[in-house]
Amino acid sequence: MKPLSDIGLVGLAVMGENLILNMASKGYTVTAYNRSVDKVDNFLSGRAQGKTIRGARSIEELVASLAKPRKIMLMVKAGKAVDDFIEQLIPHLEPGDIIIDGGNTHFPDTDRRTAYLASKGLRFIGTGVSGGEEGALTGPSIMPGGSPEAWPYVKDIFQSISAKVDDGSPCCDWVGENGAGHFVKMVHNGIEYGDMQLICEAYQIMKEVLGLSADEMHQVFAEWNKGELDSYLIEITRDILAYKDDDGEPLVEKILDTAGQKGTGKWTGVIALDLGVPLTLISEAVFARCLSSQKAERVEAAKVIKGPAVNFTGDKQAFINDLRNAVFASKIISYAQGYLLMREAAKEYGWNLNYGGIALMWRGGCIIRSSFLGNIKEAFDKNPELKNLLLDDYFTKTVDAAQAGWRRVAAAAIVNGIPAPTITSALTYFDGYRTARLPANLLQAQRDYFGAHTYERIDRPRGEFFHTNWTGRG
Ligand code: NAP
Repeated sequence: MKPLSDIGLVGLAVMGENLILNMASKGYTVTAYNRSVDKVDNFLSGRAQGKTIRGARSIEELVASLAKPRKIMLMVKAGKAVDDFIEQLIPHLEPGDIIIDGGNTHFPDTDRRTAYLASKGLRFIGTGVSGGEEGALTGPSIMPGGSPEAWPYVKDIFQSISAKVDDGSPCCDWVGENGAGHFVKMVHNGIEYGDMQLICEAYQIMKEVLGLSADEMHQVFAEWNKGELDSYLIEITRDILAYKDDDGEPLVEKILDTAGQKGTGKWTGVIALDLGVPLTLISEAVFARCLSSQKAERVEAAKVIKGPAVNFTGDKQAFINDLRNAVFASKIISYAQGYLLMREAAKEYGWNLNYGGIALMWRGGCIIRSSFLGNIKEAFDKNPELKNLLLDDYFTKTVDAAQAGWRRVAAAAIVNGIPAPTITSALTYFDGYRTARLPANLLQAQRDYFGAHTYERIDRPRGEFFHTNWTGRG
C-alpha cells in the first residue's frame, strides 16, 4: 500500500463502499471514512480486507492520509450532510485541494458550493454517478462538473473506474462548469423515469388489451432486447416477468401498484417549466407515479367510474410489432426533449456541453444504458449543433417508419380506456413539433381580447405589434 492514499472517500453506505472497492481494484489506494466510525472498522475487517484501502477514524486522520493535492469524495446523503462535511473539511485543507460530491445533489447546490469553495481557494467537483450498487463496484457512468482546474487531477481515477463501451471509451468525461455534471445526471434520472414508464405502459397494454400472460410478455421483452430497444431496462423487465413467487405465480403481479419518487424526476420537470422546454414525456412519467401513489382513491373511483370494455379483434403479433414501434418512437421523443432541455440550460447557465459525449457517458454503466445511445452519439458527432434529434436523418427516418404503428397503439389505448400517458403525450409532441401552423393564432387573439396583450401578424414583419378592439366598444 502506498504511504499516502490517492483519494479519500467519505460515506460507507451502498455507493461509497462499492466505489472504494472499484478504485482499489484499479490499483488506487483509498482512505475510507464515515460519520459513524464503527462502519469504518466493519468495512476494514470485512470487504476491504487485503485491499489497498485504509481507514480513518477522524477528519484529521483522513486528511493526513492523503497525497497532495488532496482529493476527498463525499458519497453521503444529498443535502445538509454534504454541507456539514464541507464545513468540517475546510479548516484542514490547503489551497488547491479538491472536494468531490458524488451524491444525487440538485445542481443549484453544486453551483453554490463550487463558488463557495473557490472563495476559500479550494476546488470542487459535483458529479453524477449512475449505475446503482453494481455499477459502483464494476463500472458506473460518471458525469463530473464543477471547477475545471480540478478535472485533470481526478480524470485518471474516474475514467479508470467508470464503465467502458465496446471500443474501450470510458463512460465518463468532463461535462462542464459548476452544476453542469449534476444537471446532466438529473436529466439522466428524468429520462430513466420516462423509459421505465414507457415500458410499464407497454406491459399494461399487452396485459389488458391483448390478454398476454407474464410468460408471454417475458418472451416479447426478450425479443425486443435483441433489436433497437436493446437496453438494461428492457433486459431487467424481461427477467422480472419470468420471476416466480414461491407458489409458482409471477411475483410482479403481487407487488402493490404505488410508485415512489426521490425528487430527481420532479426537478427535471420543474426546471423544464422554468426554462420553457416542452419536456412532456418525462413530466407525464412523474405524474404517472403521483397518480399511482393515490391507490386508495383509485380503488374507490374504480367502483363508480366506468370506462369502455376492452375489445381487441386484430392480429396480436402485428399489434405487438406496433407496440414495439410505439415504445421506440416515444423513447426517441423523450431523449429529443431531454437534449432540448440540456441545450436550453447550457444557454441559460453558460455551459459548453458536449452532447455526443453525454450520450457516450450514458451508453454504459448507468440505468438508461442502451445501444440506441450510440445512434444519438453519431447524430451529435455528425452535427454538434443539431437543434432537435428528430431532425437527424436516422431519427427522422426511424420515427417515420414507426409512426403508423405508434398511432394504432395510442388509438387502441384510448379506445380501450388504458392509460398510456407517455406514449400518447410523446405522439402529441411529435404532431405539434411537425405542425407549421398551430392554433396559437387564436390563443393570441383571446389574450388580446381580454388583456390587450397584442399580437403579431403573418402579413407584417415580426416585432410589429397590433391590438384590436374586438367588441367595438369604446
Ligand atoms: P445514502 O443512504 O444516501 O446515505 C448514507 C450515507 O450518508 C452514510 O454514510 C451516512 O452516514 C451518511 N449520512 C447521512 N446523513 C448524514 C449526516 N447528516 N451527516 C453525515 N453523514 C450523513 O447512501 P447511498 O445510497 O450509498 O447514496 C450516497 C449518495 O449517492 C446519495 O446522494 C444518493 O442519492 C446517491 N446515489 C445513490 C445511488 C443508489 O443506487 N443507492 C445511485 C446513484 C447515486 P452514517 O453511516 O453515519 O449514517
